[in-house]
Amino acid sequence: MQDLIKRLAELYGPAGSEERVAVYIQESIRPVVHEVYTDPMGSVVAVKRGAADGKKIMLAAHMDEIGVMVTDIDEKGFLRFSNIGGISPFTLIGQRAEFADGTIGVFGFEKVDDMRDLKLNKMYIDIGASSKEEAAAKVNIGDSAVIHRECIVQGRRVIGKAMDNRIGCAVLIETARRLQDSPNEVYFVFTTQEEVGLRGARTAAYSVDPDYGIAVDVTATGDTPEAQRMAVSLGKGAAIKVKDNSVITHPVVRNLLIDTAKAKGIAYQMEVLEWGGTDAGSIHLTRSGVPTGAVSVPCRYVHTPSEMVDLDDVEACVQLLTAVLERPWQ
Ligand SMILES: [Zn+2]
Repeated sequence: MQDLIKRLAELYGPAGSEERVAVYIQESIRPVVHEVYTDPMGSVVAVKRGAADGKKIMLAAHMDEIGVMVTDIDEKGFLRFSNIGGISPFTLIGQRAEFADGTIGVFGFEKVDDMRDLKLNKMYIDIGASSKEEAAAKVNIGDSAVIHRECIVQGRRVIGKAMDNRIGCAVLIETARRLQDSPNEVYFVFTTQEEVGLRGARTAAYSVDPDYGIAVDVTATGDTPEAQRMAVSLGKGAAIKVKDNSVITHPVVRNLLIDTAKAKGIAYQMEVLEWGGTDAGSIHLTRSGVPTGAVSVPCRYVHTPSEMVDLDDVEACVQLLTAVLERPWQ
């Protein structure tokens, strides 16, 4: 599974340009499901059929990652850019931008008297061009870039860009591999454009029309020096979400997850995230409402180039999802 995580995390896939991730996921999951297709918004849907009277359960993990988009090229060939999703200027200093064709640029910034005034509009990307024409030969207005960063495994910890949410994609693929006979009809959905407003999940949930939903994504932790208080730690198990800014999870799904974790002896922790959102936010508001829960992989340094997760937590998430899908749902 480590190889799967590394491959997924290093793929280029900012919101709106998830095609490469979609292709890789389809290849990975096809052998273990009954059907795979891509919906009009680019989300990948993989179906594993169960008993005829089984419930339809939609699992969702988003494929997209945060990034930047070129807004303008100046006369000297420096690129100005806007954000794709939640990206802080401070996390970009000293980092490299990677465009779809492999072009690499360096994030630089104008002189600012007080670093607190650093905003994205004071920054630029330097791709080594010395004129507008030279830059425009490589990069166009509207081109997207992600942060260029390799993924490394060190002991039980994995560090890389786009753990949010390729780790969730890896959890779904591994769950599909391990899930043998399920009484339920399971839809493994890999969504687009989560980072810009939970968009792919909205349309995917409408067309799948599930009885229940479970989003799988990363969540923050409160276990680093002087961190904002939060009762989630790396290495303490799968996080069962109660609330974030997009959803209050449905008690039926939440309790089924808790009961399953207890019955199987799977390490878990309760998650209350005081900001942010997940695909659960879109899924539960679909049509007349879908009871929806969420399982999160604890992650330090979310939305930086060095997001860190723990492989024991990843394993706990896979075990929990596999076990809960093996149960009959009412
Ligand atoms: Zn995410």
